[in-house]
Amino acid sequence: MIDHDILIIGGGLAGTRAAVEIARMNPSLSIGLIAKTHPIRSHSVAAQGGIAATLKNADPTDSWEAHAFDTVKGSDYLADQDAVAILTQEAPNVVIDLEHMGVLFSRAEDGRIAQRAFGGHSHNRTCFAADKTGHAILHELVNNLRRHNVKLYDEWYVMRLIFEDNEAKGVVAFRIVDSQLEVFRAKAVMFATGGYGRVYNTTSNDFASTGDGLAMTARAGLPLEDMEFVQFHPTGLYPVGVLISEAVRGEGAYLINAEGDRFMATYAPSRMELAPRDITSRAITYEVRAGRGINYQDGSAGGPVVYLDLRHMGREKIMSRIPFCWEEAHLHLGIDAAEQPIPVRPTVHYSMGGIPVNTDGRVRSSATGLTEGFFSAGETACVSVHGANRLGSNSLLECVVYGRRTGAAIARYVEGRTLPSIEVSRYLQEAKQTLQALLDQPGQYRIQEIRQAYQDCMTEHCGVFRTEAVMQEGISQLKALQQKAEQIYLDDKGTCWNTELIEALELRSLMMVGEMILTSALNRRESRGSHSREDYPNRDDGTFLQHTLATYGPGGVALNYMPVVVNQFEPQERKY
Ligand SMILES: Cc1cc2nc3c(=O)[nH]c(=O)nc-3n(C[C@H](O)[C@H](O)[C@H](O)COP(=O)(O)OP(=O)(O)OC[C@H]3O[C@@H](n4cnc5c(N)ncnc54)[C@H](O)[C@@H]3O)c2cc1C
Repeated sequence: MIDHDILIIGGGLAGTRAAVEIARMNPSLSIGLIAKTHPIRSHSVAAQGGIAATLKNADPTDSWEAHAFDTVKGSDYLADQDAVAILTQEAPNVVIDLEHMGVLFSRAEDGRIAQRAFGGHSHNRTCFAADKTGHAILHELVNNLRRHNVKLYDEWYVMRLIFEDNEAKGVVAFRIVDSQLEVFRAKAVMFATGGYGRVYNTTSNDFASTGDGLAMTARAGLPLEDMEFVQFHPTGLYPVGVLISEAVRGEGAYLINAEGDRFMATYAPSRMELAPRDITSRAITYEVRAGRGINYQDGSAGGPVVYLDLRHMGREKIMSRIPFCWEEAHLHLGIDAAEQPIPVRPTVHYSMGGIPVNTDGRVRSSATGLTEGFFSAGETACVSVHGANRLGSNSLLECVVYGRRTGAAIARYVEGRTLPSIEVSRYLQEAKQTLQALLDQPGQYRIQEIRQAYQDCMTEHCGVFRTEAVMQEGISQLKALQQKAEQIYLDDKGTCWNTELIEALELRSLMMVGEMILTSALNRRESRGSHSREDYPNRDDGTFLQHTLATYGPGGVALNYMPVVVNQFEPQERKY
């Protein structure tokens, strides 16, 4: 057994920012940070467009209240407004702090941090490092881990949360290089395990975004919040789905259909291409359905994509402000975006829901109760600052603001606490059996086969538009696939770098998360933010101005609801 005062699972922005805060507050605490990738390879490194904060460098009339209002309106009024106030008030401070750590932000002419426009934001407030913002921030944070003596366990896969009597006590993990199993014990455990984009067949997320932290939390009998809200980013590069950042539209690119029209004029005349993502993704889907999409190969009408057109922006601006997007289009499709439009369509991008936490990152046990020793932040958590739809550049901000707050709360929490007792042999034995059963299974299906069928099922039955009948069908297909997943077989029986074994465990996470998404979505009989029901096209504040809490149990998924904190902005109709 390995002991630390604090265990952090996940080396992205949220986990590393929390670790730095704990070490700053109390350098004598021992912190273990476990990640299945190297921290630098966490999905945070791929973040492109930027991080929002009212520094007022580009626009002196901006204010945290305006940022808060934009965030709440963007969320379709489902965000908790106390959490949003903290997010937006602390934003300038955390960005300056990152700069002091050494993050190289892009500059305005006068030398101050530059700020660009972003979807759903009423002022230019997104700070950035070209279109490689996540890369710039994560590298500095990981360097700071070394400075603060945080013990890194990279390429260790956490397979179970040890949670007894409402208290998190540690985790069970195995080292990928040699399959060594280990119990880790701590006074507090934090999950910063990122999103679940791989639940769908087309996503901007990395291969590690499989929702493991969510599945482990659900398996411990704890609820997950607002899982029905899945963000589709409007501009995934066709056909792979990798992201073409919103920064490209922030810098002035157009969306055009087969008729050459800037069709956003029909859907969001005041914001055009910079409408929030849910609205823009729906607009693209409507255009494609109406036959105004484009066949990328020959440019004819009736195809599955629309064009993102940068040609009027000029090569110099493209190469200085959004070079990575140019590189991506060039790498994957051989396109020179200064000369040719880029084919795009919506791609699964972000998880608004997650592990329910309070504004100190303490995980909730129910609508009214809190767990002991269990914390979470970042994309895997739901403090609810994004409600039903996240605004671009608010996620990096959430990771940093709530990573820091959660780190501070943990440092205070562990003071005076002792290490819990754990029956180590029992947990090791169970984990060993789980792995051995997978290795010994004489099944008939390959993992890839089942995963593909499952991702197609989720994409088809719980996508941009949803209806009762389609989701019911999705649930029955999912059940059948879960049965089949019990009959997968593994070719690799070895103990050295057995990635097939990890994929088998990840498949379980994906399926658990998908079931939570579908069940939560089925019961929300309204349209709000990213959750767009064709059979219930209106928002219904009377019944559904509430957070969903979905709890997994032997009898299936049970749903409860929790009030939304509305203390600053009364819900209004959402128009742009
Ligand atoms: C392509 C792309 C571009 C984006 N651009 C922006 C942007 O410009 N602005 C913005 O605000 N947001 C952006 N986002 C969203 C934002 O980047 C993410 O929401 C955020 O970085 C998530 O950080 P995180 O720390 O929560 O998780 P991640 O960075 O995803 O890290 C998760 C960590 O958990 C570890 N982990 C997971 N499961 C296990 C397990 N079982 N065992 C051990 N370790 C585990 C992983 O190894 C990893 O270290 C973008 C997202 C994508 C995909």
